[in-house]
Amino acid sequence: MDFSLTEEHIMIRDAARDFAQTELLPGVIERDNAQTFPDELVKKMGALGFMGIMVDPKYGGSGMDAISYVLIMEELSKIDASASVMVSVNNSLVCYGLETYGTEEQKQKYLTKLASGESIGAFCLSEPEAGSDATSQKTTAIDKGDHYVINGTKNWITNGGRSDVYLVIAQTDRDKAHKGINAFIVEKGTPGFDIGPKEDKLGIRGSDTHTLQFNDVKVPKENRIGEDGFGFKFAMKTLSGGRIGIAAQALGIAAGAYELALKYSKERKAFGTEICNHQAIAFKLADMYTEIEAARMLVMKAAWDKDQGNNYDMSSAMAKLYASKVAMEQTVEAVQIHGGNGFVKEYHVERMMRDAKITQIYEGTSEIQKIVISRGVIKG
Ligand SMILES: Cc1cc2nc3c(=O)[nH]c(=O)nc-3n(C[C@H](O)[C@H](O)[C@H](O)COP(=O)(O)OP(=O)(O)OC[C@H]3O[C@@H](n4cnc5c(N)ncnc54)[C@H](O)[C@@H]3O)c2cc1C
Repeated sequence: MDFSLTEEHIMIRDAARDFAQTELLPGVIERDNAQTFPDELVKKMGALGFMGIMVDPKYGGSGMDAISYVLIMEELSKIDASASVMVSVNNSLVCYGLETYGTEEQKQKYLTKLASGESIGAFCLSEPEAGSDATSQKTTAIDKGDHYVINGTKNWITNGGRSDVYLVIAQTDRDKAHKGINAFIVEKGTPGFDIGPKEDKLGIRGSDTHTLQFNDVKVPKENRIGEDGFGFKFAMKTLSGGRIGIAAQALGIAAGAYELALKYSKERKAFGTEICNHQAIAFKLADMYTEIEAARMLVMKAAWDKDQGNNYDMSSAMAKLYASKVAMEQTVEAVQIHGGNGFVKEYHVERMMRDAKITQIYEGTSEIQKIVISRGVIKG
């Protein structure tokens, strides 16, 4: 057992930390207010290799491991969780999905641009009536010989307005239930494919979230991913890795809020001393640090499982369940330590508290993680 990071990991972490401090921190409050995230910043993340962290360099990626991925995710999330969710979706859901299950032609055509940050991707599973219960897909893809015709609605899609490539999950044969589901690559601008208005959200407001409409959208057969009927398995396998990214995002939000709270507690005075000298505050800091370290262990273990080629369905679910709980609880504590200043935007922790909530909802709610974990536990 070795808990230390390699020199390369430390270099990667420091590069992400430096980028977050110099490029993401300026304007993060304004971006949250305006619900925007400039394309130039996405391009800069692409130039640093953050958009295709684990992708093979022959497809334009950085060829790094999952430990590097979570280190980068944590550092970006400490400052701006809106930036990190774009990175997470593009890496774990879109690039991973295409690299692992796509054809060579699909990789050449789409993955190389996605991994290098030249284009950006979205993962479209959720629907107004099919969230946790993803088998209840209403979106259909009818086989017309050399192409499919897609009809339906997808909602809550991250990167929904700014993507070039959309991986869309749809029902091709309702009688076959989850075995009648397929995944397709849909390009922006395909006739009949419309992007709805941006959602006005509680948190991760810089990240754009949209409803998408598909009205008789023709998709060539070569854009189906995997064998006929592979779509549900594709979504579940991909989301399992996605949860490692979101767990690392939650860890980063918690760690970012903790660092601010610690600093504040050493500066702010009450009753003649810095507030960290009051045991009530010192014990909060002790609990925060311990909880965050415990979350970090679970996140690292899930990433390590992925790197070792182990099954990571359970470890990623546990990491996401726990890290998201820690993020929610510890950002509330960070606001408390800031007192009144915690309640205003200038001090960042109120944004972090708002951002933390989504980590308990997307890529499978906490209740769904418990279903995954309990099934694994009972199966043994
Ligand atoms: C900001 C944001 C970004 C998102 N990005 C994407 C994206 O890029 N792509 C995408 O496809 N989706 C995305 N989603 C959708 C997200 O994954 C879903 O919201 C989530 O899976 C929950 O689905 P739902 O909202 O339909 O809630 P529901 O499934 O209706 O759940 C409502 C409540 O019931 C609980 N529940 C449901 N079933 C069970 C059960 N069997 N046992 C116990 N409790 C249960 C849930 O845990 C939850 O508390 C995003 C959502 C948001 C808010």
